[in-house]
Amino acid sequence: GSTIGIIGGGQLGRMLAMAAAQLGYRCHIYAPEADSVAAEVAARFTRAPYEDAASLAAFAGAVDVVTYEFENLPVSALAPLADRLPVHPGFASLKTAQDRLAEKTFMRDLGVRTAPWRAVSDQADLAAAAAEIGLPAILKTRFLGYDGKGQARLMADADIATAFDAIGRQPAILEGFVDFEAEFSILMCRAADGACAFWDAPTNVHRNGILATSIVPPGPLVAAQAEQAREIARRAGEALGHVGVLTLEFFAAPDGPVFNEMAPRVHNSGHWTIEGALTSQFENHIRAVCGLPLGATDIVGRRVTMENLIGAEAEGWAEILADPTAHLHLYGKDEIRAGRKMGHVTRLEV
Ligand code: ATP
Ligand code: MG
Ligand code: MG
Repeated sequence: GSTIGIIGGGQLGRMLAMAAAQLGYRCHIYAPEADSVAAEVAARFTRAPYEDAASLAAFAGAVDVVTYEFENLPVSALAPLADRLPVHPGFASLKTAQDRLAEKTFMRDLGVRTAPWRAVSDQADLAAAAAEIGLPAILKTRFLGYDGKGQARLMADADIATAFDAIGRQPAILEGFVDFEAEFSILMCRAADGACAFWDAPTNVHRNGILATSIVPPGPLVAAQAEQAREIARRAGEALGHVGVLTLEFFAAPDGPVFNEMAPRVHNSGHWTIEGALTSQFENHIRAVCGLPLGATDIVGRRVTMENLIGAEAEGWAEILADPTAHLHLYGKDEIRAGRKMGHVTRLEV
């Protein structure tokens, strides 16, 4: 059997490795953290920094194909991997999705509607951008943000003086506020031959910048916008030569979808697909990166809800198991921390 190299050691890598095992693959995790919850379910683990050339070379020699569960990877360090092995999704996807400026520029060039935005590299840029876009607005770091981290909201003029310091004076973009009715995501898997499979578009509810719940099928507003959003995903995937799952987040504004951001990987809003779809996002991602045909993505039953267990919420697992139809997922993280994704629960209405 062949070995799939997975870069990144978190719960997404864990669920990818579980799906890969079902298909008879062995997984080799490469991650810097000692307590990788992905490594616990994989055959092999290299614990090393992402920039460690010798460890990366040894990893490349031990695997047949490489994928990743995390887009904040140093592209230059990983470039030698791609000389030796197929890396899916490819570097165009990785470079575009890890940098909000590249991502917004890419979508603008595809003619896709986003919030109004400006690149910000210093305080003077921020003042000029705020004057052009107007408030409220959100300042977001170009790199490394997730779960609403690396963002500062500008609600009043006084915030213009403090927001750049608040995000650590890093390269950023300023985005105008989108007045949306709902948020949703497009979960697409693109096979090596260009075939695209889509799951139902979940309606996503965030609390404190963190995804709280995803519900499928969506309500009428999101359902009406999903086809246009899928077409955007299809064009983006084609332009990038993407292979694997590609997730696009949208705001459903009253007059149509507004692109927010994308992830070149499996996504939290797709966790419902494990029990709630004929083939999960994890299995189809593995199928795509291994050159296999994709499985059907139809929803199982009438309605599926996925609820994240964040921080101490995971302590309620016994109550969740008291509902015999609830599917509990715990990621095996040793330490409960506020805002940390500890697990999720999926409920199906059949
Ligand atoms: P993720 O964990 O999804 O990667 P992130 O840290 O990259 O999150 P965003 O998705 O950019 O952050 O923003 C987090 C949330 O903040 C969004 O889902 C949305 O609820 C809100 N938000 C972000 N940008 C805007 C905007 N321009 N207008 C209105 N709300 C926004
Ligand atoms: Mg993000
Ligand atoms: Mg987001």
